[in-house]
Amino acid sequence: PPDVEALGRSTWTLLHSLTAAYPSTASPEQQTEMKSFLGLFSRLYPCWVCADDFRTWMADPRNAPRLSGRAEFGNWMCEAHNAVNRKLGKKEFDCRFWEERWRTGWKD
Ligand code: FAD
Repeated sequence: PPDVEALGRSTWTLLHSLTAAYPSTASPEQQTEMKSFLGLFSRLYPCWVCADDFRTWMADPRNAPRLSGRAEFGNWMCEAHNAVNRKLGKKEFDCRFWEERWRTGWKD
């Protein structure tokens, strides 16, 4: 249904914007806060199949959130989004460009 898509686009905007606003070096408290947010988000996201799959993906130790700073977190979120892109048969995004897309703006 279209609202799953509109919700998805808006939510990715929020999630990538959170990584863009994340400090370049995060304090232990900031890391704990974001970890809680992601845990709660993955339970409350109101597309239940999406939330279930996202939780399963995050529970794999290889996909544990990397929260030490903006570069790590931004790349992690890009990888999370790419996991969903793959599942849906969408093109993967080149994560070298996440910051240009979501923080600094494209330079051309
Ligand atoms: P979106 O995937 O919404 O992307 C928006 C914009 O982000 C793109 O135009 C691009 O500029 C940029 N972008 C794309 N990939 C990346 C990346 N890897 N890193 C950084 N930027 C990127 N939909 C389902 O049908 N089934 C699901 O199971 C499902 N699970 C989801 C789980 C989560 C956690 C979220 C947030 C959304 C989920 N969705 C799911 C929605 C889906 O991911 C898309 O948002 C929706 O299909 C609309 O896709 P879109 O092509 O408009 O672009």
